[in-house]
Amino acid sequence: MGQVSEVDGLGVKKLKFSVLAKCFEFLEGTSSRLEMTDILANLFKDCTTEEIDKVVYMLQGTVAPPFRGIEIGMGEKFVQQAVSNASGVPKEEVVKQYKTLGDLGDVASNILPKKEGVLTVSQVYDAFMKIATASGKGTQEVRINALTELLKNSSPEEAKYLVRIPLGKLRLGVGDATIIDALSVRTVGDKSMREEIERAYNLCCDMGLVAKTLYTDREAITNFQIKVGNPIKPALAERLSSAEEIIEKIGECYVEAKYDGFRIQLHKEGDKIELFSRRIERMTHMFPEIVQAAKEQIKGDAIIEGETISYDESTGEFLPFQFTIRRKRKHGVEEMAEQYPAIYFAFDILYNGKDLTQKPYLERRNILEQTITEGEIIKISEKIRTGDPQELMRFFNENIGRGLEGIVAKDLNAPYIAGARKFAWIKLKRSYKGELADTVDVTIVGYLAGRGSRAKMVGALLGAVYDEETETFKTVAKIGSGMTEEQMINLKKMLDQIKVEKKPKNVDSLITPDVWTQPQYVITVSADEITLSPSHTCGRTKDLGYALRFPRMISWIRQDKKPEDSTTVKEIIQMYNIQKHAKTE
Ligand code: AMP
Repeated sequence: MGQVSEVDGLGVKKLKFSVLAKCFEFLEGTSSRLEMTDILANLFKDCTTEEIDKVVYMLQGTVAPPFRGIEIGMGEKFVQQAVSNASGVPKEEVVKQYKTLGDLGDVASNILPKKEGVLTVSQVYDAFMKIATASGKGTQEVRINALTELLKNSSPEEAKYLVRIPLGKLRLGVGDATIIDALSVRTVGDKSMREEIERAYNLCCDMGLVAKTLYTDREAITNFQIKVGNPIKPALAERLSSAEEIIEKIGECYVEAKYDGFRIQLHKEGDKIELFSRRIERMTHMFPEIVQAAKEQIKGDAIIEGETISYDESTGEFLPFQFTIRRKRKHGVEEMAEQYPAIYFAFDILYNGKDLTQKPYLERRNILEQTITEGEIIKISEKIRTGDPQELMRFFNENIGRGLEGIVAKDLNAPYIAGARKFAWIKLKRSYKGELADTVDVTIVGYLAGRGSRAKMVGALLGAVYDEETETFKTVAKIGSGMTEEQMINLKKMLDQIKVEKKPKNVDSLITPDVWTQPQYVITVSADEITLSPSHTCGRTKDLGYALRFPRMISWIRQDKKPEDSTTVKEIIQMYNIQKHAKTE
C-alpha cells in the first residue's frame, strides 16, 4: 500500500485516507471481534493526537459525538449528483447503475476513473464537517460541491466509503467495546486498559474525546472527571423478584417510586440548560418548561438525573409514556406543554461544581435535596427508608395503587455507576397473573410478511436481544400480536425503508424472515414467560435457546432506546432464573 502517512510542508505527519478506506474494507470482511480489534489497533498506531478523534468519529460514521446533534446526512439525490459531477457520467446513468447495484458506494467505485487518491484523513473529516454544519440558503449546493471535490481526489476504493458515510450506510459492525479494546491494545499491547478507558467513556459519552485524551496524557484517562455539557451514561437497574430478596441483597435502603416516564439527564451551567435522553441525545427543545424551571429551582451548576412524566391538568393523572414522547416532534411542543405539562422527578445528582459520582447515594441524595427547591415542575422522587420487606411491599402497593410502575430500591452506600446495571439500583415492577414480571425490550431484525389480504402489513416481527459479549443481536421472539392493523401497516412501511438484502453481520438467527432489517428499532414486549426453544439463538447452548412465550408488543417504537439498549441476553437468563425460583416457591 506504500506510505501510510505523508509529511506536509511543516513536517507534520498526515494519515492518508486510503489507509482508513483499506481498514473499512477489512472490517467489512470480518465479523470476528478479535480480528476487528487487531485491525483497529494497527490503524490507531498510525494516528497522531490531532487525527485520532477524527478517525474514531469516522469509524462511527459521523464527525462528532451523537449528543452534539451534528449529522453528515445527505439525501440520495444529492449524493447521486456529486457522483455524477465528479465522474462526468450523466446522473441518469448513475441512477440506472444504482438500480442494478443497490448501493451508491459501489456505483461510485465502479464509475470513477481508476487513480490513486490524494486525500488525508483530516481533509476528509473537514469536508464532512462542512457538509454537516452547512445551513441556510444554498446548503445543498455547498454539500454537493464538498462531496464532489472529495470524490474527484479519491481512488475508486476510497469513493465507496466517501459516499456511504453521508448516506449513513457505513455499516462496519464495530461497536464501542471493540474501539475501546483496540485503544487499549494500541496503548499497552493488550486489553488491560479496557476498564479504565471504558470508565472514561461512560463519563463523557464521547469516544473521540476519550481517544484524544489518551493520546495526550494517559494519566488524564485514569483521573477522568465528568464535565457539565457532556452527558454521562445512565446507571441502570437490576431486577429481583421480591422485597425479601432486595433487603437481603442491600439491607436498609431508600425505596423510591418508579415513574413510567422519560429519563432525562439535566445539565445546568449558569443559565445554560441542556437535557439529554437515556440514549444520550439532546432533548432540550422538548421540555421548555423544565428548562425554565431549572433556572429557578436548581441552585448553582449541577448535573441531575430524573424522570419526566406528563400529566393531564384537568384530572391530575399521570399519562402513559407515549404522551411524553409525542413531544419528540419538533412542532407543537408548546401546545403539548400547555395541554399535558410535564413534571420532572429528580432522583440523583452527579455534579454540583464537583464530581459527586464516587460519593455514596445517601450523601448524593442529601445534596440533591439541598440543591433543588421543589415546585410545580421540578420535584424530588418520593422515597422511604427501610430495612423491612413488609414496609417495602406496603410502599410498593401504594404506588401501584396510584398507577405507577413499581419501585426502585437504592443501595445507600453505592456510588453512581455510569453505564452499568449493578445492584446499586434494584427495580420491582408490577406484574399480572400469568405474566412475566418485567417487560422485555427487543430490537427488530426482520419481519415475516402478512399473507393474502394482509400483504401490506407485517405478519410478525423477529425480535432480538443484545449480547454484550459478542456485540450481536440474538433472536428471542416472533411477535405477531399486540399491534393494531394500522400499526402493522405502518411497521411494514418503516421496516421496508431499512431493509437489507441479507442477514446483517451483527445478527445471529436460525430463523430466516421474509425481510431482514438493519437492527435499529426497539419495541417493548410483554410475555407470559420465558421458555427454552430450539428456534432461538438467545443464550443458546447445545440445541436450546431462550424464547418469549406469547409475546405481544406493548409499546410503539421506543424513541428513547438504541438497539444496544435492548434487554441483554444476560438479563433474559436472569429473568428465566427468577421465574424458575418464583415457580418453586
Ligand atoms: P427499566 O427501564 O425498567 O430498566 O427501569 C429503570 C428506569 O426507571 C430508569 O432508567 C429510569 O428511567 C426509571 N425510573 C423511574 N423512577 C425512578 C427512580 N426513582 N429512580 C431511578 N430510576 C427511575
